[in-house]
Amino acid sequence: MIKLSQPNISDAAIEAVVDVLKSGNLVQGVQCEAFEYELAEYLGCSDVVLASSGTAALHLALLSLGIGPGDAVIVPDFTFPATANVVKITGATSVIVDVDRDTYTLSIENLESVIRDWNGPDQLKAIMPVHEFGCPVQMDEVNRLAKEHSLFVVEDAACALGATYKGTKVGTLGDIGCFSFHPRKTLTTGEGGALATNSPSLAKRLRRLRSHGMERTGSQVQFIEPGLNYRMTDFQAVLGRHQLPDLDKWIKDRAALVEVYRSELSALEQRGIIKLPARVEGHSWQTLMITLDAEVNRDELIKSMRGKGTEVNLGAQSLSSIGIYSDSKFKCKNGSYLYQSGLALPLYENLDRSGVNTISGSLIKCLK
Ligand SMILES: *Cc1c(COP(=O)(O)O)cnc(C)c1O
Repeated sequence: MIKLSQPNISDAAIEAVVDVLKSGNLVQGVQCEAFEYELAEYLGCSDVVLASSGTAALHLALLSLGIGPGDAVIVPDFTFPATANVVKITGATSVIVDVDRDTYTLSIENLESVIRDWNGPDQLKAIMPVHEFGCPVQMDEVNRLAKEHSLFVVEDAACALGATYKGTKVGTLGDIGCFSFHPRKTLTTGEGGALATNSPSLAKRLRRLRSHGMERTGSQVQFIEPGLNYRMTDFQAVLGRHQLPDLDKWIKDRAALVEVYRSELSALEQRGIIKLPARVEGHSWQTLMITLDAEVNRDELIKSMRGKGTEVNLGAQSLSSIGIYSDSKFKCKNGSYLYQSGLALPLYENLDRSGVNTISGSLIKCLK
């Protein structure tokens, strides 16, 4: 079976995990510290704070900015539900805004009109753009609107480590950026996450909230505020450290495979049966999702592709279409369309050209 994605863990990385386990220092030790340093170097930001998952990172980000009851946070409709769940968990309201049909990311036009027409009762506090599948959001526009309306920007870059916007790494363009190292992402530590910021004072609060609200001065421990335990283990961090040096090459390989898909599937696209996402500079291609014509029965297609030995699946959710957020204020036509018609195809750096040829061949046959 060709899987949707495949973690890329070397024997050396596995040995390094064993070494950490034998060392007896298992949590938040030298490996975590080194991984934070190396990620900050890679991203080009002042601070990185590791967390136990991407969701934990998003939750910490909102807590560190003081977001809670009475506040509203803008999230895009088409994403993984964690983006909106963390808003709800803080007691704030998520304001679900439609996305662009071709990039699958927050539509700037819709964002602007929602902010302009906002009349409460909750107070707009933050925008959470999602770099969905690794596609960089137009951050200049998001930051301009945030500045004009005094809003925080928390980037959900959970699936976009290594993506760039105008040459700068995403996740470092707002107040805080959040990453995930779940096995479906390009770099994985099993579970895991990270926060990036250029504000040392936010970083300090994030570290405190991550670890029981605790601060150490010398041998003294003080509990400053209520916090959580969202720490990463050292054996996870060492896994991440072994993958980071290869990440940019993996992204390049993925981008090349997307081009192979484009040419293999161009006939289907010309006939209007499928559509591929827009070409966007700096995309990190965590996932390649195409959309299917309304005539195609997606469930049947998923079944017959599996029958031919290829795992395919729907792309992401439309928040306003799923039960818990169906009271959403704004209509999200595009998000709902992408949720209904999206199909994620296998994509990982070790899938070679012949793998893409096989998958494309099966897809063409199944769509006959
Ligand atoms: C994966 C993902 C998350 C959640 O990350 P976890 O590490 O699984 O908690 C959140 N938002 C987006 C956009 C994601 O892709």
